[in-house]
Amino acid sequence: MRGVMYKKSYILGFDVGGTKIAPCLGTADGEILGSVRIDNKHRDPDDVLPEVVEGGMDLLENAGLSALDLTAIGIGAPGPMDIPAGTISPANMKTWVDVPIKQYIADGFQVETFFDNDANAGALAEWFFGSGQGVEDMLYLTLSTGIGGGIISNGHLVQGATFLAGECGHVVIDLEGPECNCGMRGCYEAFCGGRAVAQRMQRELAGQPESCVVKHAGGNIRDVDLLALEKAARDGDGYAVNLWSEICERNAQAIGMFINILNPSRVVLGTLAWAAGDFFMKPFLEHLPRFCWGETLAACEVSVSALGREIGEYSGIAVALNGLYDQGRWRRPWEK
Ligand SMILES: [Zn+2]
Repeated sequence: MRGVMYKKSYILGFDVGGTKIAPCLGTADGEILGSVRIDNKHRDPDDVLPEVVEGGMDLLENAGLSALDLTAIGIGAPGPMDIPAGTISPANMKTWVDVPIKQYIADGFQVETFFDNDANAGALAEWFFGSGQGVEDMLYLTLSTGIGGGIISNGHLVQGATFLAGECGHVVIDLEGPECNCGMRGCYEAFCGGRAVAQRMQRELAGQPESCVVKHAGGNIRDVDLLALEKAARDGDGYAVNLWSEICERNAQAIGMFINILNPSRVVLGTLAWAAGDFFMKPFLEHLPRFCWGETLAACEVSVSALGREIGEYSGIAVALNGLYDQGRWRRPWEK
């Protein structure tokens, strides 16, 4: 019979991104022992994957451990992906098509390996170790270049019939809205995703080098992003103030809808909300009551990510711990 694990159980996590894969070694109680970054930008999987396993092995060796000491491995990776098959075909990594990363890593270490998408991995990281601790119903949203979500309901991650639950960025919030990179029109992400907002600003500010937003992007319109927009809005630039306000309102519209659908006791917002703080949260929270019931809103605490930039270090580890938790082999930190 399997026993509940002791605190010093070692977990190896892998945070897969568009420019790097970061192996991270930690313990089941959330202590991070070390991490490395393997560059994967414009590189083929056959070159990168051996280095990824080597990086994980180096972390173990530096901690005086070997693969035999590991309880589990977890991987958080960007879509599109096939969760049951353990393969990834990330949109921005052209030579990575149906790459069997889960099997490759499991074979490399001979350890039970769990696999999920990066938004779910982020949700699990915040649930176990960040702003989601202690609750049974939580929604996590990355407000990044894209908008991803992870849903915890009744104490479990919601996967859905084909592992697509939590694709919160692609709910249509305006019939006449802009085209989304997913092919639909008027998605939440098409209004509020960093990539979509940047594309919109490039279109609207073309030929305006004197624009405050462009100046905050170092004078190059191709570099305008949410950060440049935020800085210009803080400066009081009219265009930026209006667009920022629209983004805060559109976020409230979408998130208010999720609050009524899921009735979470906590919503955890990453990236933009974490980076901009009150400058985003204050107007966002002012708009929110127009988009959900007072009852659902009263039950819900809206928090900013506690893990911030470090979330990647926890995400792969959290995927492994969630696998163990579902098997009854690990207890969440607040249950100890
Ligand atoms: Zn979409």
